[in-house]
Amino acid sequence: MVTVKAHAIFNPEGSFQATTIERRELEPNDVLVEIKYSGICHSDIHTARGEWWDVQYPLVPGHEITGIVSQVGAKVTKYAIGDRVGVGCMVDSCRECASCRNDQEQYCHNGYTLTYAANDRYGQYTQGGYSTHIVVSEDFVVRIPDNLPLDKAAPLLCAGITTYSPLRHWNAAPGKKVAIVGLGGLGHMAVKIARAMGAEITVLSQTLNKKEDGLRLGADHYYATSNPETFKELASSFDLIINTVSASIDINAYLSLLALDGTLVNVGAPAEPMPVNAFSLIGLRRSFAGSSMGGIRETQEMLDFCAEHQIAPEIEVIAANQIDEAWERVLVSDVRYRFVIDISTMQSN
Ligand code: NAP
Ligand code: ZN
Ligand code: ZN
Repeated sequence: MVTVKAHAIFNPEGSFQATTIERRELEPNDVLVEIKYSGICHSDIHTARGEWWDVQYPLVPGHEITGIVSQVGAKVTKYAIGDRVGVGCMVDSCRECASCRNDQEQYCHNGYTLTYAANDRYGQYTQGGYSTHIVVSEDFVVRIPDNLPLDKAAPLLCAGITTYSPLRHWNAAPGKKVAIVGLGGLGHMAVKIARAMGAEITVLSQTLNKKEDGLRLGADHYYATSNPETFKELASSFDLIINTVSASIDINAYLSLLALDGTLVNVGAPAEPMPVNAFSLIGLRRSFAGSSMGGIRETQEMLDFCAEHQIAPEIEVIAANQIDEAWERVLVSDVRYRFVIDISTMQSN
């Protein structure tokens, strides 16, 4: 075991404290990544506060990780010391089921291993990227293209892939009307990526406070969902809606905005249910779907796509001792548009 620095939460209501955690010795196919940056995803908050399931404490969240390979196992072939790499929401899967064999490890039939808050095949409870180092199988590592800076690349490992994957799957393209609900970490990436794919984009935000940003990021239209007129004006108009909202919303109101054969894809993951009325779907053969991040191959494809189209998130870099404050700001939607922890600030703790 190797002891490394981390910032952990010690109970659901707790604040972050500097601590140390153990990383396993390298297996033959493992790489050791010296973490440079770690993004703050709303899922970190849902998970660490026990909203989704009971987790073990102390817990080190973080699944938007970028860094440098600093050691490689004896049988590693894909990466070398010094490579710029990323690690996202998964660090392992069964590797045998149909999904895994089809590069869709995020839909592993036997359950993939989350980067944090999961039991791994080595008998350890996984701990994430709010930490100085992580040991990961090379098969769950991706390469960061040279023209993407490591700080800005970090949020692509979750916010980027989680929006890229459904936009690709449901064919966001020229001629398609796409709405993005919620302009936070995922939402602002969805706007940028859908823009590069050529779709016509509408942002549906709670208010018009971020309208200028939304249009600058690439949206064609911007509406406030607090205004009931929005739902009348946009009724039955979208081919695809990506809901990124972290709270339970009146999903029937949003389904009413879909055109014939349109699909509303839920990527937001509130703990509370969102009941659907049958008639919200029947009348115009609408679909209500969900989507989970993306496979490793698709994550690499997304990174290369972002590099090619010069897409990167809007970030606010913080020090490790500012995580509590950043979480509070995420909870009140005061984030423009992703917090990224500079892990070098952990070294001095
Ligand atoms: P975030 O940065 O907090 O963004 C969420 C946005 O939702 C906010 O910026 C806000 O946008 C809107 N919102 C928040 N509370 C709302 C409310 N009560 N009513 C209406 N709108 C509200 O969060 P994120 O990191 O993008 O994550 C979003 C959700 O996706 C979380 O639930 C997260 O767990 C989930 N997630 C799922 C996956 C997956 O694989 N499916 C992956 C990553 C994250 P406006 O200010 O514009 O209204
Ligand atoms: Zn995430
Ligand atoms: Zn599998």
